Amino acid sequence: MESSSEAVKTDVLIIGAGPVGLFAAFEAGVIGLTCQIVDTLGRIGGQCIELYPDKPIYDIPAIPSCTARELVDRLLEQIRPFDVPIHLDQRVQSVAQRDDDHRWIVTTERGMRFDCAAILIAAGNGAFVPQRLQLPEAAALEGKDVHYSVARAADFADKHVLVAGGGDSALDWALALKDIAKKLTLVHRRNGFSAAANSVAAMKRAVEAGEMDFVVGMIDSLDVPEGALRAARIKQIDGVTEIAADKLVALYGLVSELGPIATWNLDVRGGRIEVDTSNYESSRPGIFAVGDIANYPNKQKLILSGFHEASLALRKAYGYAYPDKKRVHVHSSYDAKLAERVSAAHTADDA
Ligand SMILES: Cc1cc2nc3c(=O)[nH]c(=O)nc-3n(C[C@H](O)[C@H](O)[C@H](O)COP(=O)(O)OP(=O)(O)OC[C@H]3O[C@@H](n4cnc5c(N)ncnc54)[C@H](O)[C@@H]3O)c2cc1C
Repeated sequence: MESSSEAVKTDVLIIGAGPVGLFAAFEAGVIGLTCQIVDTLGRIGGQCIELYPDKPIYDIPAIPSCTARELVDRLLEQIRPFDVPIHLDQRVQSVAQRDDDHRWIVTTERGMRFDCAAILIAAGNGAFVPQRLQLPEAAALEGKDVHYSVARAADFADKHVLVAGGGDSALDWALALKDIAKKLTLVHRRNGFSAAANSVAAMKRAVEAGEMDFVVGMIDSLDVPEGALRAARIKQIDGVTEIAADKLVALYGLVSELGPIATWNLDVRGGRIEVDTSNYESSRPGIFAVGDIANYPNKQKLILSGFHEASLALRKAYGYAYPDKKRVHVHSSYDAKLAERVSAAHTADDA
């Protein structure tokens, strides 16, 4: 756990480790700005990794075809010369601007603090959060008996475990937990799955072998006597069935929401941040929005548009970090310092 007391000082805080946030970190390095990246998720790559890692992308300049995962790997390779710290599992919460030097203090939900001259919001469609059960009794049990991810498989040992969902996560965790749970039941609203074919086949074999149960239906209510989960009632075509459960893992996928950024006094319309297209600055000077989160006339939600936006935004951000310096543009092909850094990163690799 990172220290919550001392603020991390940096020129630019980049919110979002999707493709646009990653490329922004490269551009920051090239023009002489330090930066740090935060992301609410536990892994890097934004939509590319969460939604379509193995799909090919054809419209990245000079890369005729690569998968979304390969694109993220290449971006990570590109920023390696700058050693950019990436803080995962950190959703940004609040922002405050100091009166004396106009620097920003950004705080995450887990208490990390950043002290920066400019903020670049590359938050895509907002933070991905798990789709929660729409049952009032589930909220009080969250993190105790009702879970939306599995942090430690051992917590499910010798329990009656109910896994809900029909995607890859639900099937993978049902198969992983069936061997340690006292009894495992998978519940899904239909007898069809959006998971990998081999996982579906493995689940069906496990059900046939009596290693786990599968029930078609929807969770209707939870039985919570004395504050602990005892059972779930499953609504089926022909009635309601009660299934014993001490632990419920609901894996219904992720939804995105702007979350706390919506309260930052920015001009937000339809969940996206309005920007000035000459520099992608928001309605609050010093806070920029790039990539899918940015909105302006004729905005295209494309990776290459986000790259361009980040590049212009950081050039304006330079003025906030170094108001007394004049930045001289050097093409990367003539940038000796950059060449040295890139070569040092490769040499370290070969050693
Ligand atoms: C199936 C599919 C196929 C696509 N194919 C293409 C294609 O072929 N070509 C193309 O150009 N585009 C394609 N796109 C669109 C492309 O993926 C997006 O334009 C791109 O991912 C936007 O990048 P981004 O960095 O702005 O946002 P994202 O990729 O959404 O990343 C944003 C990151 O910010 C984080 N974040 C959000 N809120 C917070 C917060 N409060 N605190 C901390 N972190 C936060 C999120 O967790 C996320 O990791 C496709 C999209 C989909 C869904």
